[in-house]
Amino acid sequence: MRSTRTLFTSLLPAAVVLISMQIVTAQRLAPARNFVRGASVAPAAEVGGIKEVIAEKYARRYEEWKAEFLSTDIGKAQWDMYAHHPRLQLTITIGGKSMQGAGTGKYKWNDAGELVSATIMLGERIDEGYPSAVYYPVMNALEPFESRQLIGGSVLAATKIAHEFGHVMKISTTSRTLYNLQVQLFPIYNKIFLSNGYNVNDPRLVDIAQKMGGNPVQIWEDREYWGEANAMLFLRDRIAREKFHCRLFGKIKRAVEEYAKDYEARFAEIAKEQGAIYTCGWR
Ligand SMILES: [Zn+2]
Repeated sequence: MRSTRTLFTSLLPAAVVLISMQIVTAQRLAPARNFVRGASVAPAAEVGGIKEVIAEKYARRYEEWKAEFLSTDIGKAQWDMYAHHPRLQLTITIGGKSMQGAGTGKYKWNDAGELVSATIMLGERIDEGYPSAVYYPVMNALEPFESRQLIGGSVLAATKIAHEFGHVMKISTTSRTLYNLQVQLFPIYNKIFLSNGYNVNDPRLVDIAQKMGGNPVQIWEDREYWGEANAMLFLRDRIAREKFHCRLFGKIKRAVEEYAKDYEARFAEIAKEQGAIYTCGWR
């Protein structure tokens, strides 16, 4: 098993690129030639609700994925919370370059520092494709179960939706000042990092990381693991009655232990609530 530090170092260059891409993706999110669905549409800014902007050609698959997400108590509770949110307008749309991935961005805060706008961009084929176990221990764990036809693509898609909802929930508790500081300092950090021989101990980088609350990889992986924790909450409900639920939890557990040791408590807490700590040997 690789140590966490070695893992950070070996993954740094790739993750830096990913972070830059994520910021660019967030800036590029733009609805175009779509129609607006649903009764929970918020017509003006600073009026909360969920705005679904789904092109006709994606409508059918979107409804399937959404139905799968809403089939669980946790999915329904989270959806209802945002559908009736007093301030936050959450836009959900399908498109973007990453067909099997998804992203959340276009965050806006009001003068009181409260999040009022966020957009989830789903890829058009999120019912396919499993991201790496290193940063996505939960989504990745589904792979063998789909290949054995124990779950369908809609479960994978709904798990990806849950992951994005996890991002929205986490950003709601992040201060605008800190987020803006991170957006501002990421490129500066990356520029130095790419020019100093990938030396994270460079005093300039240590200083920037201190201001941002971690280096870009730590901040990025922390966000991704919050997404994964919410994905696990969804699966906890969705898979609870399936015979293979302990096998699935076991696979998540092994990936978390190997790649996300520092974040283990976050996942163990969910396993504990589910009772997996007793029934599946999660300790
Ligand atoms: Zn994510």
